[in-house]
Amino acid sequence: MAARRIDGKAIAQDVRAQVKRDVAAWVEHGHEPPGLATVLVGDDPASAIYVGGKQKASAEVGILGFDHRLPEDASHEEVDAILRDLAGDPRVSGILLQLPTPPQVDGAGLAAKIPPGKDVDGLTPISAGLLTQGRPGLRPCTPLGVMELLRRHDVPLEGAEAVVVGRSDLVGRPISSLLLAANATVTVCHSRTRDLAEVCRRADVLVAAVGRPRMIRGDWVKPGATVIDVGMNRTDEGLSGDVDFEPAAERAGLITPVPGGVGPMTIAMLLRNTLLAAQAAAEEPVGAAWR
Ligand code: NAP
Repeated sequence: MAARRIDGKAIAQDVRAQVKRDVAAWVEHGHEPPGLATVLVGDDPASAIYVGGKQKASAEVGILGFDHRLPEDASHEEVDAILRDLAGDPRVSGILLQLPTPPQVDGAGLAAKIPPGKDVDGLTPISAGLLTQGRPGLRPCTPLGVMELLRRHDVPLEGAEAVVVGRSDLVGRPISSLLLAANATVTVCHSRTRDLAEVCRRADVLVAAVGRPRMIRGDWVKPGATVIDVGMNRTDEGLSGDVDFEPAAERAGLITPVPGGVGPMTIAMLLRNTLLAAQAAAEEPVGAAWR
């Protein structure tokens, strides 16, 4: 039996529409609109496209944009000064420093100093620590997107065997923490895992975040399992996930395609995070939809 496909594009659209309604309601209640600041150093075309996409998506839902672009030779101190200003600016709810930065700028070091309340990427050490300890905080966007896809499909997580392949700070680790917080029994795999295929076959929920095209074979999938493919790999045949989709879809119950699965969720969750950050900054109770 072929798996049902999870339509990440449609779910992301739905999240974005909901954020737009919630931003409008927030403003109607007399609050300032949320603001998203992006800081881009240099003129890398791919980074410019990412930043432009985030600003466009923000504007579409009524989030104010603060789009800072610095030349390739901007100094570390200049970028630091802008980030400090943004950290203290009450109109700015969320700050993103686009990485990588040119070599004279310690991008990772500066990004780590973004205050936790404005860390809408959820990737600073403080946000990561809050997540690991199960305390409130902003969570990374792609992992949040994965959880939203699972929630929308009522995938049972309590007591379920979840296997996450990949342990990066960006994807694997935070997804594992979120699944653990949802009471799944989580196994985290990596490049030194012994008999990866056998571990994957245990999974009720299998998350692939490796960066190797079609590495997860169809016969690694437990019949009826939910398979979430975070991988985005450019190959000669186009964009490919980490899962060998067709054979995996023969065995899975639910599966995300690539493209059109996890990918579109990241920006949607960034918008949601920005609204959440604005609400938290105003010390308003967070709406039930956000819990
Ligand atoms: P990463 O930092 O390179 O991490 C890859 C992880 O996979 C590492 O933990 C590595 O293990 C593990 N790994 C590598 N080879 C393996 C193998 N043969 N067996 C088992 N594990 C192995 O990559 P990432 O940033 O997490 O990204 C993973 C994928 O997700 C990429 O394709 C990326 O493009 C995609 N991605 C998509 C989105 C989205 O919006 N959909 C967002 C972010 C990333 P070690 O730790 O032992 O090295």
